[in-house]
Amino acid sequence: MSIYNTPADAANTAVRAFLTSLGEHYLGSSFNTGSGRGKRDWEKIKHNIFKNECAYCSATGIKLQMEHLIMFNRSEYGLHHPGNVVPVCAKCNSRTKKEDKTYTSWEDHLSFICKENNEKDKFFDRWTRIRKHLGEGEFAYPQLTTEERASVRIIANHLYEKIKYEFHNALTLYKELDKTFNKK
Ligand SMILES: [Zn+2]
Repeated sequence: MSIYNTPADAANTAVRAFLTSLGEHYLGSSFNTGSGRGKRDWEKIKHNIFKNECAYCSATGIKLQMEHLIMFNRSEYGLHHPGNVVPVCAKCNSRTKKEDKTYTSWEDHLSFICKENNEKDKFFDRWTRIRKHLGEGEFAYPQLTTEERASVRIIANHLYEKIKYEFHNALTLYKELDKTFNKK
């Protein structure tokens, strides 16, 4: 829990909650990786599919974090869904930004890491394993149409603006009430 919280933090959290609910809508069950079925699914992804390795650099014997391939924010609107999550090491869990300030795709990020580590020859195998996890098999990510993706983006942005607006209202309301108290 952070100590300093801004309206934008709350709005971003609301967007992630929406992307989580939508992911669970497509999955048909909860994907809370902290307990129950969600936790078992996440363990399966780490152990069975990625063999306890970082999906990007293949590091082992380290603590693995959760990475959303299609980013879980207002840049890519990726859903919180088992097909969209892979285990990564702390070092790989930070996407670089492009010149236009948007984040690189997971494919470019993987390519960058393989080059950095002088393992360009490993790119294809790693790419194939991730692509397979995302696109087919038990945890395949839902294939949204262009219209559906646009709807997710519009609704998420609406939610973001609405939360920020409500904060502005809350502060304005307090200031107005406070004025009436001072009159007494
Ligand atoms: Zn790594």
